[in-house]
Amino acid sequence: MSVFARLEPRLPSVSKPIQYVGGELNSTVKDWDCAPEGETVRWALMYPDAYEVGLPNQGVQILYEVLNERDWIVAERTYSVWPDMEKVMREGDEQGPIPQFTVDAHRPVRDFDVFGLSFSTELGYTNMLNALDLAGIPMHAVDRGDEDPIVLAGGHAAFNPEPIADFLDAAVLGDGEEVVLAISEVVREWKAEGRHGGRDELLRRLAVTGNIYVPKFYDVAYAEDGSIEAVVPNRPGIPFRVRKHTLMDLDAWPYPAKPLVPLAETVHERFSVEIFRGCTRGCRFCQAGMITRPVRERSIETIGNMVENGIRKSGFEEVGLLSLSSADHTEIAEVAKGLADRYEGSNVSLSLPSTRVDAFNISLANEFSRNGRRSGLTFAPEGGSERMRKVINKMVTEEDLIRTVATAYSHGWRQVKLYFMVGLPTETDEDVLQIADLARKVIQKGREVAGRNDIRCTVSIGGFVPKPHTPFQWAAQLDHETTDDRLKKLRDTVRDDKKYGRAIGFRYHDGKPGTIEGLLSRGDRRVGAVIEQVWRDGGRFDGWSEHFSYDRWADSAATALEGTGVDLAWYTTREREYDEVLPWDHLDSGLDKDWLWADWEDAIDPSSDVEVEDCRWTPCYDCGVCPTMDTDIQIGPTGRQLLPLSVV
Ligand code: SF4
Repeated sequence: MSVFARLEPRLPSVSKPIQYVGGELNSTVKDWDCAPEGETVRWALMYPDAYEVGLPNQGVQILYEVLNERDWIVAERTYSVWPDMEKVMREGDEQGPIPQFTVDAHRPVRDFDVFGLSFSTELGYTNMLNALDLAGIPMHAVDRGDEDPIVLAGGHAAFNPEPIADFLDAAVLGDGEEVVLAISEVVREWKAEGRHGGRDELLRRLAVTGNIYVPKFYDVAYAEDGSIEAVVPNRPGIPFRVRKHTLMDLDAWPYPAKPLVPLAETVHERFSVEIFRGCTRGCRFCQAGMITRPVRERSIETIGNMVENGIRKSGFEEVGLLSLSSADHTEIAEVAKGLADRYEGSNVSLSLPSTRVDAFNISLANEFSRNGRRSGLTFAPEGGSERMRKVINKMVTEEDLIRTVATAYSHGWRQVKLYFMVGLPTETDEDVLQIADLARKVIQKGREVAGRNDIRCTVSIGGFVPKPHTPFQWAAQLDHETTDDRLKKLRDTVRDDKKYGRAIGFRYHDGKPGTIEGLLSRGDRRVGAVIEQVWRDGGRFDGWSEHFSYDRWADSAATALEGTGVDLAWYTTREREYDEVLPWDHLDSGLDKDWLWADWEDAIDPSSDVEVEDCRWTPCYDCGVCPTMDTDIQIGPTGRQLLPLSVV
């Protein structure tokens, strides 16, 4: 079944051929028939981007391992092929085109039972269509037969899969570890019974679990003004709302335990351990924080064991402690000290990818740099002015920020990066220009405390995109022209500053990709035609600036949405009303819609002084998640410590 013999002679003609070869340390190749009597369940897992971005993805690595640990499941990986490889595959050989293949055993993706895609960004949608086409799987779910795989989406972007609903058989909301096994069981049973009832019956069995969304079992009705009137199940037994899945015991699932070691250069080359999942800080723009509630910590012992095991199995020399805000782990000081003690004098270095200004402290930073380079520090105040930070519920005062950064400079750091967003609700030019002011004050203070002039502050700016399941899901997105205008004013202000301007780095992207991300994030099923049109016009790798074309998206939107009464602006720059049915209302993240609405109103009310605190340390404020999902916050402190490793 392997297509490698057909692929191999062509590899010298494509860029970075090593990415298509497979055989990475800790990868798995199993017999195609590893279970008796045709009961093997086979998954092709895809991160829909190039190998260099896709291989390090934690979600795919975890599911790959969880599935392959079962002796009746085969799981292999596939990534998006670069355009040069796509051309080679489409040209094919005497047997015809070379189909989308897995990198593990080079088996055609179409031969698997489930084709599972993990989306962390909506800009991967055209890559999904390309993979389906290359695989020879009918693009539209309605055209698929019993022999085609179930096309399944997961990841954060799957919390509103409506724009790709026509191309999907199913979507899963939330944590994947347990649900992929539950899906596999359903598929196994269906196969063992001789595929009774065909594809429709398999999808029905998945849908009735209440955890798996099957778009074709729901009808969408539109009102005359173009808004959605209702989304309702179209057959008996299908639930009105599909619930997200929450993994409650992270210690019982210590994955990845055998991290994949890439063959080609990738965006991250380190072993990452997720130290907790979820975040209840309540930043109003943050979809990841909202949809992953509540907070569930991994214990210090499990973190220690995972780090030790992961390093031993992979040979990586850098360990990243991952989460949405890692310094918030209740025992982060003990974790950092324990690991720094263990690996003192070795080649292993630790990193903490995300740090909140208010959770940073210098002893923590020192532990992390004890064994390695003193890398730059990154903080994300997100809003340039105090007023904006109040709107987004990220209450970091200017004083806090300057004090924190000054501490870092006075302890030898020379480089600090500050991350902001532009285009937030109620924002004015003045709010954005205050970013320059803040950077200036940071440099001024830094020079003062460090007693030297060679310190730098890099300001990095991203465009705000309103996301489903957040209090800002009703917000009007700023149009890209105004976004670019604000960014230009800010850049000019920094450049014109003779005294501090040269010490301030300025990084930003123009506003156009954000507009398209906005269309895809809050779109409904009608947007599927736009995505398909873009793909037919050659759209691929839309997350890469060199491949992204705004004009292609805008032209496709104009054509594909013609006659629907809605357009690109309707999806992006329009504020929504309370009673509008949102495309994802039938997908249950646990958040109470009325709580989200009240939080949205507090955000934009200039007279409101409501600050949503973190429910880890204050009483529950009824966001809805815990009672709806039957979950609870799981945090320490446990009072335990990491023991030194003894050599046997
Ligand atoms: S329900 Fe309460 S405790 Fe649970 S995440 Fe929401 S605010 Fe926090």
